[in-house]
Amino acid sequence: MDFGLSEEQRLIVETTRAFVENELYPHEAEVERTGVLRKELADELKQKAIASGLYAANMPESVGGAGLDTVTWLLYEKELGRANYALHWSCVGRPSNILLAGTDAQKEKYLYPCIRGEKSDCLAMTEPGAGSDLRGMKATAVEKGGDWVINGTKHFISHALEADFVILFVASGEEDTPRGKKKKITAFFVDKGHPGMTIREGYRNVSHRGYTNAIIEFDDCRLPADAILGEVHKGFEVANTWLGATRLQVAATCLGRAERALGHAIEYAAQRQQFGQQIGKFQGVSFKLADMATELKAADLLTFEAGWKFDQGTVTDQDMAMAKLKATEMLAFVADEAIQIHGGMGLMDDLPLERIWRDARVERIWEGTSEIQRHIISRALLRPHGA
Ligand SMILES: Cc1cc2nc3c(=O)[nH]c(=O)nc-3n(C[C@H](O)[C@H](O)[C@H](O)COP(=O)(O)OP(=O)(O)OC[C@H]3O[C@@H](n4cnc5c(N)ncnc54)[C@H](O)[C@@H]3O)c2cc1C
Repeated sequence: MDFGLSEEQRLIVETTRAFVENELYPHEAEVERTGVLRKELADELKQKAIASGLYAANMPESVGGAGLDTVTWLLYEKELGRANYALHWSCVGRPSNILLAGTDAQKEKYLYPCIRGEKSDCLAMTEPGAGSDLRGMKATAVEKGGDWVINGTKHFISHALEADFVILFVASGEEDTPRGKKKKITAFFVDKGHPGMTIREGYRNVSHRGYTNAIIEFDDCRLPADAILGEVHKGFEVANTWLGATRLQVAATCLGRAERALGHAIEYAAQRQQFGQQIGKFQGVSFKLADMATELKAADLLTFEAGWKFDQGTVTDQDMAMAKLKATEMLAFVADEAIQIHGGMGLMDDLPLERIWRDARVERIWEGTSEIQRHIISRALLRPHGA
């Protein structure tokens, strides 16, 4: 494994960092203070992201993306992750990889417009009664006269208010297994405005201001069979094949934000004077910096090793779970310590630290909670021993 960056990777990091600093940072205060990402601003920044080649760079070259390998893609995510989430997610769109699983007709209708920045997607799995235990979902799809009729409720669905279509996962049947009945899941495309689907505003969230979540209700929503993504009853197989690396994306964006927080902490520790000297000269402060940098590096190595293994085809769920767990917990620690080093100023929104601290909270919950990541890791350790 080569730990150095190639010329191409260096260029991508520099280009993305420059975009984030010059185009996104100047709008952070507005989004944080109003809690809203204005549509005109989002559209303007999206056009800039498209012009600079950063939009949909996660996609393969064959479909119009940048064709980045996983390590390079994670370097790009890490840079984007420095900024306010609503700004980098909505303006530098990364269409869901799951769109690559569509038929040619589905790619024409959904994937290519997303890559061109004309449409955007959202992914609806979670329900009020089914979070970590997704198989416990209650929303159903029942086949009727060749169509599928959907009923049920999804919640916490990010970006659904702005998205043009929903990638929906619902229970389409049940099967008997040695461990009892198990729900079969099917994935569907549902266009915004489709009869029977209502999207309404979700909850106010402490993390990621300006990045909305929504509640989606289905009431006898009738979908044709060609709205199915992948095969009937194989929704989780499609999700597992195409969404595996999303946990690494979460990890990488956390690395970027932690690096930003650490940068502020180092600068402040070197400049702030108390008791007649720089506070960084007090071991109580300097050791914090040492621990923050060490934790950050550990998370960085875990994330990029998993990305490298992804490219070799040897990555395991355990590798990705470890990266997500470490990076998200590291960010919470680094953000908290960065505030501590700043004293009262750390809590003021003149600096991005209180925002990074708030934003860190959701990272340990979405894309699988820390407990679920520990469950994945511990199962991999114990299963070979029959436990
Ligand atoms: C802001 C936000 C945006 C989101 N966006 C989306 C989205 O776009 N699409 C989507 O489908 N979902 C989305 N989610 C849902 C997210 O993935 C879930 O919140 C997450 O999976 C946890 O589910 P839950 O909140 O229902 O918690 P629960 O699953 O109810 O968990 C509650 C607690 O129990 C623990 N727990 C549960 N099971 C176990 C276990 N087996 N072992 C140990 N501990 C356990 C959990 O770790 C947690 O601490 C979003 C969530 C948030 C907060």
